[in-house]
Amino acid sequence: MSKKIKEIKERYGDLDIVDMLHQFLTEGNAEHQKQRIAEGKIGKFYPSSVGKCKRAVVYQMLGYPAKPIKGQSVLILDNGTSFHNRMEDIFERMGIMIAPELSLKDEELRISGRSDAIIWNYLKQEDEPDEEEIVLYDPNEEDKVIYKGPSNHILIVEFKSIKNKNFEKLKTKPQSKHIMQLQLYFYLTGIRRGIVWYENKNTQEIKTYMIEYDEGLIQQVKDDIQDILNHVDRHALPEKEGNALDVMCRYCDFRNLCHVPLSDEEWLDMYFEDEAS
Ligand code: SF4
Repeated sequence: MSKKIKEIKERYGDLDIVDMLHQFLTEGNAEHQKQRIAEGKIGKFYPSSVGKCKRAVVYQMLGYPAKPIKGQSVLILDNGTSFHNRMEDIFERMGIMIAPELSLKDEELRISGRSDAIIWNYLKQEDEPDEEEIVLYDPNEEDKVIYKGPSNHILIVEFKSIKNKNFEKLKTKPQSKHIMQLQLYFYLTGIRRGIVWYENKNTQEIKTYMIEYDEGLIQQVKDDIQDILNHVDRHALPEKEGNALDVMCRYCDFRNLCHVPLSDEEWLDMYFEDEAS
């Protein structure tokens, strides 16, 4: 037997090719999580956590073990990443892109993360005066400036790919957690307008919502983050925000710490059942 085939057999045993793929992805994801912990990425607040159950965010910041992710779930997450890359590539070719990602940092709120795209403000009117100058940085290269200029020359875009059922529910406003996420971006960057961009996972239909800077909402989001940080410092868990059957708990990485444990198979059954309904 060739050396290469022997190595494959040692690694995957008698699994069929789909199980081989799932095992490969599960192991890769677990390795990635370990690496994040080793690199000290625990203890930071991620802007994508805005609007999530506070208890889940505290679990994550304190390094509680999340459920291992099954290969099929990794594929679902990968589709979300591919959607982002596809949109960024299209914006680039359309000629409206400034940068696909933006560094987001705030020591007091322990934020370290990145936003989605920033684009030229195609809505700006000729007679609209320039606003305050801002400087934005590349998340992949410290101190590399990706934009320096008036805050009203650019827009920030947050891409979301969502299930048909949730897409149909969107009417005049985006989901409130996404409005809050943009408010946090405004606070961290000085940008004053942005778009929440939803794509229906099943049909590729698009809905977009323009969001404006709102001082009151920014204070609310900062207070919520501060409350989470206070819990983290006291090693205390906030109250559970849902019960075992609530959607937020069904898809939560820490549901097995809050509720009766659920196997990955049961979770995936519920995921697809929910999508079909
Ligand atoms: S399982 Fe529910 S209550 Fe517990 S952390 Fe997750 S979302 Fe919050």
